[in-house]
Amino acid sequence: MKIKVDQHNCIGAGNCAQLAPKVFSQREEDGVVILLDETPGDSEAEDVAKAVKICPAQAISVSEG
Ligand code: SF4
Repeated sequence: MKIKVDQHNCIGAGNCAQLAPKVFSQREEDGVVILLDETPGDSEAEDVAKAVKICPAQAISVSEG
């Protein structure tokens, strides 16, 4: 699993960081997403999938590999 985030689209809602705090964080000054782990293990897959779904800006994408 390989994750990409689009910091330009991110509106800093923070849902991703709440759902998968090992994978996503937020910039302190404006809440924009920070990707902590670009290739997390399978244990994070479910939380990452939820984060993708719940992101209001569609700023998270996941690909295989
Ligand atoms: S859920 Fe989406 S909009 Fe909210 S901080 Fe994460 S990437 Fe940004």
